[in-house]
This record gives sequence, C-alpha cells and structure tokens, in this order.
Amino acid sequence: MEYLNKLKNKEEFFWENLKLGNKSEEDFGLNFEGVYEAEEILKKFAPFIMKKFPETIKRDGIIESKISEIPNMKKILNEKYQSNVSGKVFLKQDNELAVAGSVKARGGIYEILKYTKEILVENKLLEENDDYSLIASREVNEFLSKYTIQVGSTGNLGLSIGIISRTLGFKVVVHMSRDAAQWKKDLLRSYGAEVIEYEGDYGKAVERGRKLSEENTYSYFVDDENSKNLFYGYAVAAIRLKKQLDELNIIVDEKNPLFVYIPCGVGGAPGGIAYGLKEIFGEDVHIFFVEPTNSPCMLLGMASGKHRDISVFDIGLTGLTLADGLAVGRPSGFVGRVMDSILSGIFTIEDKYLFDYMKDLYSSENIFIEPSAASCFQGVARLYDDIDFQNYIKKNIKTEQKNINHILWSTGGSLVPMEIRKKYLEKPFK
Ligand SMILES: *Cc1c(COP(=O)(O)O)cnc(C)c1O
Repeated sequence: MEYLNKLKNKEEFFWENLKLGNKSEEDFGLNFEGVYEAEEILKKFAPFIMKKFPETIKRDGIIESKISEIPNMKKILNEKYQSNVSGKVFLKQDNELAVAGSVKARGGIYEILKYTKEILVENKLLEENDDYSLIASREVNEFLSKYTIQVGSTGNLGLSIGIISRTLGFKVVVHMSRDAAQWKKDLLRSYGAEVIEYEGDYGKAVERGRKLSEENTYSYFVDDENSKNLFYGYAVAAIRLKKQLDELNIIVDEKNPLFVYIPCGVGGAPGGIAYGLKEIFGEDVHIFFVEPTNSPCMLLGMASGKHRDISVFDIGLTGLTLADGLAVGRPSGFVGRVMDSILSGIFTIEDKYLFDYMKDLYSSENIFIEPSAASCFQGVARLYDDIDFQNYIKKNIKTEQKNINHILWSTGGSLVPMEIRKKYLEKPFK
C-alpha cells in the first residue's frame, strides 16, 4: 500500500497503473460510433454556432483549438526543472477553445446540442436535414425557455453548459462548489443563469442539483459522472487531434510513441479524451493524468479498486486546491473503470508548482493558462528524476526517448478576467 502512504503524506509521485492493457470483463456500453455521431452532430450545428459566436467563423463553426510546439518552455523544463526531455514538447491549447474557454467546451456543448436536437425534432420544430441555423429564431428560443438545464460544477462545466444553454433560450441553474472561482459565478449570472452555491464540496452540489432537477419534469440534469453523450463529446478531441498530427507530419507508431498528459478532476474530460486516443492509436499512445496532492480522487479510486466508493476525505485529505477545476473528492466510477485498461498512470502535483509552471509558460511562450491547466506540465517536469516514471518508460518503450512526442493538454484559461490573471502572475505563492 505504498501509494496510500504517499497520498496521505501529500507527496508528489507517479502512480503506475498495472492494469493497463488488461481486457475488461465489464461492458460499459461504449461504442466508438458514438464519437463519430458526436462529430457529425457538432458539424450540423456549426452554422448555428457561427451565427451566435462569430469568433468561431474562422474554424467554420467548429469549436477546436490549436496544437503547437513550445520550444522555449521546453528549455525552461530542462534548465529549471532538470527534465532532460529530448523529444518534442507540444501544447494542446484548449485554454483558447471558443465559447467556454476550456476543455469543457466540446463535451458540455455537445451534450446540450444533442438534447436540444432531440426535443426540437420530437416537437416538430426541427427536421434532421434542416439547416440548423434556423434554430436561432424567436420561436425556438421561446419554446426552449420552458425547459431548465441544471448542472453541478466546480466552474468550467457550468460555464460551458450555462453559456450554450442560455444562448439557446433555456433556463439554467448551476450548482457550484465552494472552490469555484467568484469570477466564474459572476460571468454565469451575467448570462442570466441562476447560480446556487454550496458550503460543501463538489459532490454535494451535484447531489442537490440532481435532486432538484428530478422534481421538475421540464428540467434536464447534466450528469457529469455518468453521461455518455458528455463523454463522447469530450472524445471528439481525439479524432481532431489525429488530423492535426497528420498535418504536422507527426507519426505515431512503436518507434514514435505519443505521451499525453491531461489534468483530471472528476474524470469525464480527460477520460473521454483518453478513450478516444486509445481507440485511434492503441498501444502507441501513453496517457497520463495529473491531480493535485490534496484531491487525487481518480488515483485513489483506481489504485484501491474502490472507484467512487472512496473519497479523498476518507484518507484524511482536505480536497482543497487552487486548481479549482480539479477540486473533486470523489471520482466518476464509470470513467475510473473505463480507465483501468487504458490509462498508463497518474502524477500528483503540489499547488505551488501550478503557479510556477503558469508563470514559466507565460514568460517563455506568452500563453496564459489557468491554475488547473498548468498541472499538465508535471509529467515532463518530473521525467528525469522520477524513478517510477523512468521505469515505466524502460518497460514500455522500445525506442530512444528522443523519439517520444509529448503533448501537454492545457485545459483552460482564456475566459479568466485580466485583473485575475495579473493577480495570479504577480502573486508570490504562499
Ligand atoms: C474540468 C476541468 C478539468 C478536468 O476535467 P474533469 O472532467 O473534471 O476530470 C481539467 N482542467 C480544467 C481547466 C477543467 O475545467
């Protein structure tokens, strides 16, 4: 139970998932067709998205981010953190995703668009083959205003769901945990969403939201832990990343493995991306999550095999972290079980380093990302001095380390207001 002591001591470490590659006996009801369907439906809604969010016109109404090499940050990783990283280092910039400014844009927006399509078709306000920009009408807006969308959120899922839902005309109630940043609550209210705050953690907010929603027949609850549509929406990122890598002439095979590092909260967003990437690249992609030392819920759930039947509070941790998007005490059981055979391992990170990496990236590449997103650097920063990570590489990689392409998934940032950015960047960490 070495991992348990490390978790209790709030150590930074790499936990290797020894179940990787095992065939799962469980049937999760997942089918990659669901990811292709999500991509198709998002394309059908693209004319509507362009009409309402003109900033998406340059990508034809598809909400997608760029991937780019970050050579200056790589230099910092090697000089300041002694990473010894020799492969290429890329940043997948979901921090700049249109509409919601975070990784939650793909999943959250797809979930709501799919639901919208269903109720509009059912009520004969839309036909499958219509031009979907038609739904930007007063008639549809008034019809949808009879319905309420509810969601529990640490912040960014609420923003994603809230912004798209209000734009369509729905009423919106977002149940927020105590860690959620004030500016996220303010922004949601400015869109006309109702924000209810909870003293307890994220789990409490979700529980209460679900209950209130069940009491109202015209209410739809977005289930962050179990929704397949949300999961498929997140997984769309993998199809698009494959295209982007092709365009960059980045090969992914046994001689050129791909390492991907993704910040993890409840597990839905990183889990969806991981599922998609594994379907596409198989054994040649190695996926790592990163969690704060104070709320390593996915690591605890997977390593113990207890998944959502154990929380970080059960082992004496506070769950408190400045990475507000990752402040989750109990993981999604569905995602954890799917990850058992897919995920290579999980890194933990102390809050202090979130701010170091955030400042380093800003000063070296002029890219601003939020604290949660900055955790994505942890794997590469610890590449050289983490013996367990080096052992994983020795065991699983049959080529020189310089042939590994590293993708750091920057999950959020562009909606952070200027004055808050300044505070983050100037404040010495206490
Ligand atoms: C939500 C979020 C994550 C993690 O996603 P989960 O689905 O909660 O695991 C990571 N980074 C940011 C910025 C987020 O908002």
